[in-house]
Order: sequence, then C-alpha cells, then structure tokens
Amino acid sequence: LLVVKIGGAAGVDPSRVCTDVAALVHRGRRIVLTHGGSASVDELAGALGVPQRELLSASGVRTRHTDPATLRVLQLALLGEVRPAVLGELGRAGIRAVGLSGLDANLLRAERRAAIRAIIDGRRVLVRDDHSGRITSVDGGLLRLLLDDGVTPVVSPPAVAEDGRPVNANADRIAAAVAVELKARTLVFLTAAPGLLADPADPASLLAEHALGDETPKMGGGMGVKLIAAREALRGGVETVIIADGRTEDPVTRALDGGGTRLR
Ligand code: ADP
Repeated sequence: LLVVKIGGAAGVDPSRVCTDVAALVHRGRRIVLTHGGSASVDELAGALGVPQRELLSASGVRTRHTDPATLRVLQLALLGEVRPAVLGELGRAGIRAVGLSGLDANLLRAERRAAIRAIIDGRRVLVRDDHSGRITSVDGGLLRLLLDDGVTPVVSPPAVAEDGRPVNANADRIAAAVAVELKARTLVFLTAAPGLLADPADPASLLAEHALGDETPKMGGGMGVKLIAAREALRGGVETVIIADGRTEDPVTRALDGGGTRLR
C-alpha cells in the first residue's frame, strides 16, 4: 500500500499527480491520497477578508492559527475547492475515488489542543481560541473497505475532536497516521521543492538521503513539520518515506524510482 500526500502550496499541480496516481491504480496499486491546501486556504481567506496568523511554538514549529473564522475558511477551501479538484481529476482518469475528512464516519479522531503556548511577534502568549488538534486514531477499517472495493480514498483535514466538532490537523501528520494505521510500505510527500534541500535557497542542493534525529527540525515553510511527520511514519513501521517534487510530470512514479529525498 502506498500513501501519497499532495502538497498544498502553490505550484503543486493536482492534475499531474492524479494522472500519475490513476495510472498506478490502473496497474493494481492500492493508494490512499491525502491533501492539505494551504495556498487555497490563504487565497480564500484573503478574498473573504479573514486575517491569517502563524503560531510559532516554543519548540520552533510554525502552524496556522485556526481561530473560528479560519476554521470556517479552511473547511470551505479544502472540502469545497481542493477536494472537488482532486476528485474531478481522478474521475476524468477513470478512477473511482471518495473524498473523506475526519468528520466522515469519524475517520480521523483528534485531541483538541486546549491552549497553545506560542510566540507572536516575538512575545510569548497563551492562545485560547485555536481549533486544532493532534491525530489520535485513524479508522483503518473504513479505508480498507473502500480499497477492497477498488475505491481510492482521498483524505483531508479537518479531524474530529472529542466533542464531535471539527478541528484543523496538519495534513502531513494525517498522511503519516494513515500510513501507520494501514501498515503502508511507502509514504510519499509531494511538495513544491525538489525534496529536502541542504540549502533551501539552492534547488541543486538536494539531499538524496537524510537521517532524522530526535531533535525538532527547525525549518521554514512547513518543512519542519513534514520531517516530524516523516519521523512519526518511520517509527510507526512505514518502510520508505520520501519527500519529492510535486511539480513534475509523473511525480509519484519519479519519487518511487529514486527521485527526491529518502528519509531514515
Ligand atoms: P506542502 O504544502 O507541500 O506541505 P509546505 O509549504 O508546508 O509544503 O513545506 C514545503 C516548503 O518548505 C517547500 O516548498 C520550501 O519552500 C520550504 N522549505 C524550507 N526549508 C526547506 C528545505 N530545507 N528543503 C526544501 N524545502 C524547504
């Protein structure tokens, strides 16, 4: 089984990813797709005049401040814009696919973060209106049921909290949790970079391999969280975790053929 996470940043073209995924599914591969949609959320938030803020945790990880207005925008963007784009591409390629958020049959359960210690504009603050959480369980049975019937699941935030209400959860960590739950052999993160770069400003500095340590990776643009998710997947038993370019032709096939960065 293969889990593919489609990057949400601008530049990653869902149509190329889906054409490639469809070809692999037609050849008999079982694939679960997951997606976020940061560019789509940012664009819709801008159009609706909902200001966006980043929280910087004490350990150096950046996340979106999901206040109530942002949670609303996030659901509109992911479930109303990104998902139909992905399902449309898969459908055109002749694939039966189903879009699921964590709210569908409680697929993704999360523990709501009560109050977040964060750094905003250099000041330490306690954020109380953040609707986000950490994934605690994935309903693998539902995903296997779909896969066994030849259906490709397309999974995205939000997750569902203990109180039955939606919470934002990081899509990379959702992909990792899904891969662990389904005992996937391979997890591919497609993003708007050639892979993990030694120097983020130099696309030629691609690392073919990278060993993850215990320390929290301090990297910009969501790469730090991606490495945390990769580590969760590897420690959960996923054999191969790859970060690869989502902007190319046949991005999944290229990643499986040795493109991008293999994490250890
Ligand atoms: P996605 O939406 O694909 O999950 P993110 O924006 O969350 O992507 O994170 C990937 C981005 O992180 C890359 O597009 C790149 O701009 C940035 N980045 C920061 N540091 C690095 C690095 N060392 N190597 C590659 N990309 C990096």
